[in-house]
Amino acid sequence: MHKAVGITGRNSLFFRRGAIIPCLSVRVVDPSKIFFPRFPMLPIVESKRPSLPANHILNWDKAAIQTWLQERGYPAFRAKQIWKWIFEGRADSFEDMTDLPKKLRQELSESLLLWTSTVVDHLESEDGTEKLLLQMADGGRIECVLLREEHRRSICVSSQVGCGMGCVFCASGMDGVDRNLTRGEILEQMLRLQRLLPAEERLSHIVMMGMGEPLANLQNVLAALDVARHPEGLGISPRRITISTVGLPAAIDRLAEYEVPFHLAVSLHAPTDELRNRIVPTNSKVGIGAILQAADRYFERTGRRLTFEYVLLAKINDSPECADDLVKLLAHRGAMLNVIPYNPVPGLPYETPSPERIHHFRRALLEGGINVMFRQRKGDEIQAACGQLRRIRQTAPEA
Ligand code: SF4
Repeated sequence: MHKAVGITGRNSLFFRRGAIIPCLSVRVVDPSKIFFPRFPMLPIVESKRPSLPANHILNWDKAAIQTWLQERGYPAFRAKQIWKWIFEGRADSFEDMTDLPKKLRQELSESLLLWTSTVVDHLESEDGTEKLLLQMADGGRIECVLLREEHRRSICVSSQVGCGMGCVFCASGMDGVDRNLTRGEILEQMLRLQRLLPAEERLSHIVMMGMGEPLANLQNVLAALDVARHPEGLGISPRRITISTVGLPAAIDRLAEYEVPFHLAVSLHAPTDELRNRIVPTNSKVGIGAILQAADRYFERTGRRLTFEYVLLAKINDSPECADDLVKLLAHRGAMLNVIPYNPVPGLPYETPSPERIHHFRRALLEGGINVMFRQRKGDEIQAACGQLRRIRQTAPEA
């Protein structure tokens, strides 16, 4: 991302300018490999609920669609037409695919699903931000967001139902993780958000910073992003796709091995293990040192400048000492640090720092030579903090 609009470490919507320097080298990817993950399976958290629909077409790669077509006597090229209708034509149903034979459209409608979720809520902010609360086929609920800023049309997408990382300030992790989202469910969020745009506008950026830890569902996330970046999918450059993580070193290494130059954002939130163990509990199993080493390896392998996210919590991690410790950690890395003043979540005791504290924190970082951006929160009036809308709709009767 160069000038990016997205979502913070799943705490609040953000807005930033000039955050990332574009890389000059461009990797050409073999399109024939685009729909297939190229690394061994990662452990998948299986759904605790009844099985998800097996006939979700967004979970199928092109070869599977071609096989399905050929079994019914249709030529393989129809798969390309179907794909084009879904990603470019923004078809709402198989019936909309008017250049397909009527009989095929009927068979598709009877056999396969284009949508498996329903929109439970759709909120719009005055700044153009829109948020969807989706209910998946098994009843799990997730959120996804469209952000508008000048010519950018960015989306923030969830990777899991809930989150197992347990960051103490985050609404998404309050009930733990239920399951990983499938490739199709991740793509479905992108397509639903794409359909909020007028026909002449395209999605420009994707941030995997919604509900869940993307690297805990790396296989499905990469499978969905392969489609998102494919010219016959959404056609979004990997340089405009950000994968956020709270810091899982082994999975960061897997992502580096994938050798697609996605932008990596590490949600740091604290400069010392002592403090981070308190606010990001998974840190106690890993430690900041191992996370930073993995992030450095990612940079070495991909050439993509790293970004670190830091949710600024009043009287928790906004002290001058924290700023000094951050300088020691990051100044020599040349990374970007995005600081996001906390977006309060009802029921949680954390607060936004005062403007004075924010000012002093910022000044200390700048004086320490850190490339720092302070983000403007977006969409506050639509429960923009990730997981907040889901939580409100679980605890309050629907209007
Ligand atoms: S609990 Fe999960 S979704 Fe929330 S900030 Fe932590 S990693 Fe992100």
